[in-house]
Amino acid sequence: MSAGNNWEERWHPLREEWIIIAAHRQDRPWRGETVSSQTSAPEYDPDCHFCPGNLRVSGIRNEDYRGIFVFDNDHPCVGPHTPHDVPPAPGIYRNRPAEGLARIVCYSPKHNLTLAELGVSAIEELLKTWRDHYAELGDRPEVKHVLVFENKGEVVGVSNPHPHCQIYATNFVFKTIETEARVSREHFEQTGRVLFQDIITTERDDGRRIIYENSSAIAFVPYFARYAYECYVAPKTTHFGLAGWSKGELRDFAQALKVMLVHYDNLWRMPFPYVMTLHHAPTDGGDHSTFHFHIEFHPPLRKPNLLKYLAGPEIGGGNFLSDTLPEDKAEELRNASS
Ligand SMILES: [Zn+2]
Ligand SMILES: [Zn+2]
Repeated sequence: MSAGNNWEERWHPLREEWIIIAAHRQDRPWRGETVSSQTSAPEYDPDCHFCPGNLRVSGIRNEDYRGIFVFDNDHPCVGPHTPHDVPPAPGIYRNRPAEGLARIVCYSPKHNLTLAELGVSAIEELLKTWRDHYAELGDRPEVKHVLVFENKGEVVGVSNPHPHCQIYATNFVFKTIETEARVSREHFEQTGRVLFQDIITTERDDGRRIIYENSSAIAFVPYFARYAYECYVAPKTTHFGLAGWSKGELRDFAQALKVMLVHYDNLWRMPFPYVMTLHHAPTDGGDHSTFHFHIEFHPPLRKPNLLKYLAGPEIGGGNFLSDTLPEDKAEELRNASS
């Protein structure tokens, strides 16, 4: 346990909200629901809708793919076939068609090969795939933002265990990104500096929450973490997305991502569940030169078999109460061997 205070409030500069850190009550009696670890899966599953050569629910057969495989989601939440004659909203309410596009990205043909187990070169290929789809989808006039995310593990409700992520290209900017874009712009206007650069500088000067760092990428548990094992992976140079990176930057970032994921899996010697989200600048035509691309990991567990419940403060009030100290969790993650 770290020295010093473990009961305070910390400001989240990217979300503009307070986090209550109440780590002094971490070991309070708890009889909540526990989570079992997953069993191992085969390399190919004849019943999997994402495995090569198999039929999907739409009746379309997957090609016999060898690398990364991308296709339009068969159950899209936003899509080109959304009804355009939506019924008028009552009273003061508003509605509109759910325009956009949703895609699935399978990381590899192997049903049991997780992102953490991909080689650095394969992760680099994935970064290029994300970059290309962001550019293509973001160019569509109706698309204001491209959200790329992976839900990993049963505890975050993943519907198919075949390692994959999803792309939501929407006609609105997701709330967190909208806030990040705004505060980044405001910070630059007030200080002449990029907000995320200031975060990186502060994290490097402090050093206690850094998990891994190489010449152009960094992975750390942020000072203002909301989840126990929350982690950010970012390039050191400000880029609005994955475009325009040097070869070295791509490799360094893939390496940082790989190290972070391996530390996660090694922490409790189990596949570590998380929600991973790429924070790209919006594609709404605004000036987002101050937006600093990064990847955020939000793991739902706070102990090997214990879920962090979202309750009164989080669901009811909208702010997080953290039972753990980010410095302690970063130390645990750093010590989980790579
Ligand atoms: Zn599969
Ligand atoms: Zn972010």
